[in-house]
Amino acid sequence: MGGTVALIVGAGEGRRFGGEVPKQYCRLSGEPVMRRSLLAFLEHSGVTDVQAVIHPDHGDLYDEAARGLGLPAPIHGGVLRQQSVALGLESLTKKAPDRVLIHDAARPLVPAGVISRVLAALETSPGAVPVLPVTDTLKRGDNGTITVTLDRQGLWRAQTPQGFRFEDILAAHRQAMSDELTDDAAVAERAGLAVAIVEGSEDNVKVTTPEDLARAERFLGGGEMRTGMGIDAHRFGDGDHIVLCGIVIPHDAGLEGHSDADVGLHAVTDALLGTIGAGDIGSHFPPSDAKWENAASEVFLRHAGELVSARGGRISNVDVTLICEQPKIGPHREAMARRIAEILGIAAERVSVKATTTDRLGFAGRGEGIAAQAVATISLS
Ligand code: MG
Repeated sequence: MGGTVALIVGAGEGRRFGGEVPKQYCRLSGEPVMRRSLLAFLEHSGVTDVQAVIHPDHGDLYDEAARGLGLPAPIHGGVLRQQSVALGLESLTKKAPDRVLIHDAARPLVPAGVISRVLAALETSPGAVPVLPVTDTLKRGDNGTITVTLDRQGLWRAQTPQGFRFEDILAAHRQAMSDELTDDAAVAERAGLAVAIVEGSEDNVKVTTPEDLARAERFLGGGEMRTGMGIDAHRFGDGDHIVLCGIVIPHDAGLEGHSDADVGLHAVTDALLGTIGAGDIGSHFPPSDAKWENAASEVFLRHAGELVSARGGRISNVDVTLICEQPKIGPHREAMARRIAEILGIAAERVSVKATTTDRLGFAGRGEGIAAQAVATISLS
């Protein structure tokens, strides 16, 4: 099938952490660590599929963490991490992806840029690993006394995701069965594969101790939350269909407007622009410009999403309410939410589409048109 599969490996017992809940299922700002790791890859446009590898006893914890994400059933890992990765890779042989990104489930804050850099390096190298320089001076000690100060020149701290061409790393893991190696790059190196290094990120912390979790919590809490709202209305006119939230719906009238008159997407676009104070849809796409005549409104929404990203914003959620008597929105709600999520490159669970009538009051109640209201929340880092 080709494509890139992200293998999220969290099959350890997670006991080192202490407490009842294994570390990969502890909550970080309200969401399980595992869920955040899965979402980081689900939301990356370069990743085709996400496959988790879990401890056989963690089925219920995993199901809760992955709820609503539409992922394939998890693979059960082995006793050692290396075995878990090997089992995960073997499970992908039928799918035969071109590339695989192997990621520690305990690194929930991996930035999209790190994933992108690993993928970019795989264009020219069979393997790629994100790294950070060693900044502290390294000492070797014995019996409480330093015996030697090491040269840190050329030393790096390796992170994940570690990316490889699938066939290469599968073969390398099969060869390495009898040896215990500390990461997948070591497995690849042992098989003679060249592994490129790309820039990692200090945000990409591995949650191994309660202190790490607290640090990750502070990092997430440090972002500034922003909210924006958007309102739009369009009048019914001639036509046999309307476009609402990117979905074409047959109807006995059309909606009048300069573009495709998608009130839902227009409201969401304005809400997103509002989060960063970037004006409104009319200031970016003036109706006076013939270029936008009959334009598909996803162009407007995508642009607003890109402006938010460019400002360092991350969309937390989008909620839109469509106000009309007809057509019935219920049957299309899920498709609409999926479409909005797709345009913005976020998980569908971050999008909500609702509908209401106005009890036949006002213009929407008289069936003269459709209105929409939207709210968007983002976090600025
Ligand atoms: Mg409009």
